[in-house]
Amino acid sequence: DGSFPYARSPPDKLLGGLLPDGLDERSCRSRYESSMYRRNPGRRPSPHLIAKLRKHEELQRRCGPNTNAYNLAIEQLRTGRSVGSPECKYVVSISYRGLGNRILAAASAFLYAALTDRVLLVDPSNEMDELFCEPFPGTTWLLPRDFPLASYTNFSIDTAESYGNMLRNKVLSADAPAAELPAFAYLHLDHDYGHEDKMFFCDDDQRLLSNVQWLVMRTDLYTVPGLFLLTAFQEELDALFPERDAVFHHLVRYLFHPTNHVWGLVTRYYRAYLARADLRLGIQVRNFDPRHAQSPHILQQITSCVWREKLLPELLATEEHAARAPGARSTAVLMTSLRSWYYERIKGMYWDRATATGEDVSVHQPSHEGQQQFGKRSHDGRAWAEMYLLSLCDVLVTSGWSTFGYVAQGLGGARPWVLHKQPENLTSAPDPPCFRDVSMEPCFHAPHVYDCKMKRGMDTGEVLPHVRHCQDVSWGLKLV
Ligand code: GDP
Repeated sequence: DGSFPYARSPPDKLLGGLLPDGLDERSCRSRYESSMYRRNPGRRPSPHLIAKLRKHEELQRRCGPNTNAYNLAIEQLRTGRSVGSPECKYVVSISYRGLGNRILAAASAFLYAALTDRVLLVDPSNEMDELFCEPFPGTTWLLPRDFPLASYTNFSIDTAESYGNMLRNKVLSADAPAAELPAFAYLHLDHDYGHEDKMFFCDDDQRLLSNVQWLVMRTDLYTVPGLFLLTAFQEELDALFPERDAVFHHLVRYLFHPTNHVWGLVTRYYRAYLARADLRLGIQVRNFDPRHAQSPHILQQITSCVWREKLLPELLATEEHAARAPGARSTAVLMTSLRSWYYERIKGMYWDRATATGEDVSVHQPSHEGQQQFGKRSHDGRAWAEMYLLSLCDVLVTSGWSTFGYVAQGLGGARPWVLHKQPENLTSAPDPPCFRDVSMEPCFHAPHVYDCKMKRGMDTGEVLPHVRHCQDVSWGLKLV
């Protein structure tokens, strides 16, 4: 199609078979149009992953809301007791915290659901129903509003039905017969979780949990590296993901498609500001400390990173003038941040002074929302559009620790340069300013550090060659 000249090769709208064919294109334009905007076609899914996804879609249709099996399972949840071998089992993923956290959480819950043959239902709170298209054909992944555990969004570390508390209080034990198990367990996998909650990452506990029909999961983490440490899942994970550094890449591109409103934000901006440049550089500036909203040290960190790594041309001294070299490339910089200060400075620099190479550099930032907001529709829509725009860039600079950046790098299939998180009392620019990440995978920020077999502490970053510590969060784990 000549009207979409952005992809380098002919666009493959089903992403190598990752996406199911035949869904309505008009109600969710992004699903089949995204490949037209991506220069980097991304990694190919394995045949086993494709087959697994089609089978899982069938499960979601057979057991999802508005089916007999679902109604029966809801009845069992109301009575509170598990049945011997239920036809369908479920995992409900609670949606809370920032958009990046919510995407990592739902992606992690999905992989867990697929590995354990459970239906994934996503809590529709926090705009999860308005930002994303339905991923599974012929059914909904949204938890119905009349779900009987009415207070599930308030489940916390103190909830009596949490797996950790049931273990601690001996309500559950590994040798309990299936008939005595509760109909549901709450999995508290939030960053503040305790030792017993973390038993989720042990094989014996997974065996027990496999007999509980309903699991309600709260996590703000990318727990996938933890799933790779469970022996029971290893063979299947190896077959699904022969390229371990592309797990999130496939999950995020399979599950998360911007709804038409958000897709409009993405495509209008891309065509107006980014499409014509020879190179697109995305720079994501996330300041966790409000005192860093206007820091000359962080500005210096950003510029020394992009200059040192030759991601942007350097500037000539004031008043010097370089003729535009014939054929010099042009670069469009897409900045995203809650504030506009860094963007204003960098844009000003490239206006005030000529580049040493004669290249043209334009600098753009779609919004500056001021601060993180909750439950405001336009705010989340912009955040999602900006994550997506970053993912359409050819080269990425992200902020360490930020799940917002993780989503962009996973969607785009890019191994980013990462700005080191700044210490609170900043007296100079961090040196070195940034590092090249070893993989595009997100970091699991709060992994368990326990050897389930030996029942003692263990460095889980030293067990498998492809599950290593992260560079941005040193105690975290990531797939490489
Ligand atoms: P994290 O806190 O960096 O891990 O990322 P999250 O996405 O989980 O939470 C941060 C939230 O702050 C986002 O979801 C947005 O609501 C907002 N936010 C942070 N950075 C940006 C940005 O660059 N642009 C926009 N529009 N919103 C942002």
